[in-house]
Amino acid sequence: MANRTPLIAGNWKLNLDHLQAIALVQKLAWTLQDGKHDHAAVEVAVFPPFTDLRSVQTLISAERFELRFGAQDVSEHESGAHTGEISASMLAKLECSYVIVGHSERRQDHAESDAIVGRKAAAALRHGIVPIVCVGETADDLEQHGASAVPVQQLRDVLAELPATGEIVVAYEPVWAIGSGKAATADQAQQVCQALRQVVAEVRGDEAAAATRILYGGSVKSGNIAGFMREPDVDGALVGGASLDATEFAAISRFQQ
Ligand code: PEP
Repeated sequence: MANRTPLIAGNWKLNLDHLQAIALVQKLAWTLQDGKHDHAAVEVAVFPPFTDLRSVQTLISAERFELRFGAQDVSEHESGAHTGEISASMLAKLECSYVIVGHSERRQDHAESDAIVGRKAAAALRHGIVPIVCVGETADDLEQHGASAVPVQQLRDVLAELPATGEIVVAYEPVWAIGSGKAATADQAQQVCQALRQVVAEVRGDEAAAATRILYGGSVKSGNIAGFMREPDVDGALVGGASLDATEFAAISRFQQ
């Protein structure tokens, strides 16, 4: 069995200006330090809004915090006439390790297709940033097709846009579980994550599938994280609301204790 370092990723969404971001990152880093968090054993990353990234980068590098950070989206384009877009090379300059692509809120609010999500992930890979590719079914999809069918197809379509190699992370986020307080069960998450790993195996090979981290996201809290992390195909969590509270997010990151 591959040795996959768990990743706990906090998606702040449209919350916190750069001053609030500094306060939260500082408190999170200190809380993790107090708890003697082993960053080599469990990676912890935050995903602030674009306008906070420079401040977060400066703080993390000045204080030598072991936290990782990334952006919530990226342009599929490199540069040019694309008003309002942020390129992967700009994020790479800010030392972003990761970028979230295809979050269901972007798919809904900005009509992002799997092809667009795939091209965004490809742009990230070209600049050495690991894309966190989000997939997940709506409540309607779940009722009509079961849990796996839609996320599996989404992942296939995204992977079709990517080169055969280059690290990616997959996040299974059932849309009905996001922000609803109604998380999937650990067993449901395991079944879909296993199906997603199978897709990675078919497209990129068994070795890549064994090395690829697959996260669960959707109403994760300190009270339910341990159950997800016990599942063999769940390698971490993408956390929304609960990542805005440093104490709670640090507790989620300490899921083993
Ligand atoms: C998310 O936005 O990716 C998410 C999982 O949100 P929440 O944890 O609030 O459900």
